[in-house]
Amino acid sequence: MNLNKVSLEARHISLSYGPTEVLRDVNIRIEPGEFFALLGPSGSGKSTLLRLIAGFNQHQRGELLIDGKDITGTPPHLRNVGMVFQNYALWPHMTVWDNVAFGLVERKEPRDSLRAKVGAALDLVGLSDYAQRRPSQLSGGQQQRVALARTVVIEPKLLLLDEPLSNLDKNLRVQMREELRNLQRTLGLTTIFVTHDQEEAMTTADRMAVLDKGVLQQVGTATALFDFPANRFVASFVGTANLLEGQVTRVNGETLTFQAKGVGNMVLPSTREAPAVGPATMAFRPHTVNIRVRDEHVDASRAWLDGRVESSEFLGESSRYRVRVGDAVLVANQPHFCGLSLFQPGAEVRLGIESTQVRFLTG
Ligand code: ADP
Repeated sequence: MNLNKVSLEARHISLSYGPTEVLRDVNIRIEPGEFFALLGPSGSGKSTLLRLIAGFNQHQRGELLIDGKDITGTPPHLRNVGMVFQNYALWPHMTVWDNVAFGLVERKEPRDSLRAKVGAALDLVGLSDYAQRRPSQLSGGQQQRVALARTVVIEPKLLLLDEPLSNLDKNLRVQMREELRNLQRTLGLTTIFVTHDQEEAMTTADRMAVLDKGVLQQVGTATALFDFPANRFVASFVGTANLLEGQVTRVNGETLTFQAKGVGNMVLPSTREAPAVGPATMAFRPHTVNIRVRDEHVDASRAWLDGRVESSEFLGESSRYRVRVGDAVLVANQPHFCGLSLFQPGAEVRLGIESTQVRFLTG
C-alpha cells in the first residue's frame, strides 16, 4: 500500500458549543509516522478534537495544518483522513469484503486494483479467510479489524481512532492493543487515537497529549509524563500519586525542607532539580514508598514519616497500604515475596520517601 507520512499541527485551536468552551487554545504537533494518543477523562474534549481533525467539527479560532498546510476550510471527504469509529460502523447487510471495498467503490476504483487493494487490506489484518462473512458472524476483535481494513484501504494520510478498544472485553483489549501497535508500525501511518484509559495510552502510543476540561495539560512519552508530570492533574491521571500540599521552606546544597500541610516538616536530601522556596505540592508514587515497622532502624537517605495502617490490600505481586500520617492518607505499595507477612490495620509503621523519586509541582 502506498501510504505516506504526514505531520499534523494544531495551533491555538479553540472551539465552543454556544457558551460552552470545549477546546481552549490547544497547541499540538504530531510528527510524521507517530502513534499519538489523546488521553483524558470523559468530557475533556478528546473526541471533539479528533472530529475536528476529521473535518466533522469546526473550530472558531486557530489553525489546523497537515504537513504545514492549513486544512481548516477543507471538507471531510477531501482531507484524506481515515477514521475508525468506536462502534466500528460496519454495514451489517454487507460481507466483510464488501465492507472493506466500499470506500474504493465510491471512488470508482478500477476492478483489478480494487481487488488487489481489498485483498491486501484483509491480508494485513489477518482476515482473508473471512471475506464472505457478515459482521454479525465475527467476534468483536475481528469486527474491529474489518473497520481498520476498511479505513486503511483508502490509503489515508492520517488514521484517526476513536476509543478503538473500548468495545472489547479486557483480555481481548490487551491483545488488540498489541495488534494495533504492530499494524501501525507496519503501515507507518501517522495515527491519532482517543482513549480515557491511561494504561492503553502508555502501552501503545509513542507520545500522548493529556487533556482536562479542553485544556492541554502536557505532551510527551509515557515515561516522561509518568516521571515528570507537569502538574497535579497529570500526576494523578497518568498513574497514581501521593500528593501533599505545603511549602518548600528551605533549600541548601544538602537538604531541602518541606512543610507538608497537616503532616509536618520533612527534611530530604537535596536533588539536582531542587525546587524554589514557596508553595508546592509534593508528589511521589506509591511503589517508591518504603514501609517499615515503627521501631526498625531506618537510613537517612529517605525522609521518614510515622503513620498507622488504615487498610491493606493483598494484590499478589504487591500489597497496597493506606497509611494515615497526620491529616493525610498516603498510599504505599510494597512488592510481595513469599514469607513476607502483611501489616494489619492499626499497625504502627514508618514510611520512607526517597528524594530522587519526589517531584515538587506548582500547577
Ligand atoms: P471526550 O471525548 O473527552 O469524552 P467530548 O469531546 O466528547 O469529550 O466532549 C467535550 C465536551 O463537549 C463535553 O462537555 C460535551 O458535553 C460537550 N459537547 C460535545 N459535543 C457537543 C455538541 N454537539 N453540543 C454541545 N456540547 C457538546
